[in-house]
Amino acid sequence: MKSRDQLKKNLEQFGEIRSDEPMKTHTTFGIGGPAEIFLTVRTSNNLAEAIRITSEANADLFILGSGSNIVVGDKGISGVVIDNRAKKLKQIDKFHFQIESGANFSGTARRMCRFGLAGLAWAVGIPGTFGGAVVYNAGAYGGCLSDVLVRANLFSPTSGSVWFDSEDLQLTYRNSVLQNNQFKQQTVLEVEIMLQEGDATSLISEVAKYDERRLSTQPRERNPGSMFRNPSTQPAWKLIEAVGMRGMTKGEAKISEEHANFFVNTQQAQAKDVLWLVEEAEKRVYDTFGMKLIREVNFVGKF
Ligand SMILES: Cc1cc2nc3c(=O)[nH]c(=O)nc-3n(C[C@H](O)[C@H](O)[C@H](O)COP(=O)(O)OP(=O)(O)OC[C@H]3O[C@@H](n4cnc5c(N)ncnc54)[C@H](O)[C@@H]3O)c2cc1C
Repeated sequence: MKSRDQLKKNLEQFGEIRSDEPMKTHTTFGIGGPAEIFLTVRTSNNLAEAIRITSEANADLFILGSGSNIVVGDKGISGVVIDNRAKKLKQIDKFHFQIESGANFSGTARRMCRFGLAGLAWAVGIPGTFGGAVVYNAGAYGGCLSDVLVRANLFSPTSGSVWFDSEDLQLTYRNSVLQNNQFKQQTVLEVEIMLQEGDATSLISEVAKYDERRLSTQPRERNPGSMFRNPSTQPAWKLIEAVGMRGMTKGEAKISEEHANFFVNTQQAQAKDVLWLVEEAEKRVYDTFGMKLIREVNFVGKF
């Protein structure tokens, strides 16, 4: 307890700090127990320093972007959660931008379209930060981050901050080196992206089409996006539907009627009920088709 108080004191200089902060207020799913220590940082320097101090104290660490791709357990997260709000954007030349990893991905994409810069129109409906977008190589409608990412600045307490070229990050479908064990300790501090000349009017109408498409295919209830990656042979929703789980509920968690790869929070769902539905879908799909569904959403903390 004493060492936790000391850690909190050491972290105070880097941002606002709270104890036992309910994670359900920091996730798009609206689910999740308390974070033992919750620190909000607003610069990438403070993000790096806070990671270093947490590591020196041997405390558990979780980096939070916008919480749009996580399910946090009902018993919460022990150690330190760093809420990354470092959002500075620097224009290097007409098409070239350096952006801190806590910047909003879809908001930036919309802004670039309005400025007549092409390359990110497909991203306007993807919630989250640039940091999260690198981890998952966020993508939609045929586009993905790797199309525009030049390089990313990664930080770890052992190697400090190092710029990696996009090719070295192995950005593939909803995957990157940041999901592999040897890179799991790395945090994205900044990204550099390269856009192209475009026409604002046609980009804005392209954005409107993507917005319309999302509104007509995705549920309105709170959710963390697609639960599973789509296998190469067929979409995950088809498999979940085929095993009779579309619309299935457990407590106040539900597999959406509109899109069976979306698991939604109908009111005050508990993480343990979401986990039950997820494990049941995995089991039924495996038993029926011999296929292993791979989770896109990250399950974090104690359930
Ligand atoms: C309604 C809805 C629709 C969605 N549609 C799409 C879609 O079309 N395409 C798509 O690709 N995704 C989609 N998603 C999923 C989600 O938006 C993306 O995966 C997004 O990139 C996650 O970013 P985040 O900042 O919210 O990450 P979080 O959920 O906060 O974190 C997710 C993981 O990334 C790690 N992380 C976050 N920031 C960093 C960082 N700076 N450095 C290292 N690790 C970090 C976290 O530790 C955690 O493990 C959707 C989600 C929702 C809710």
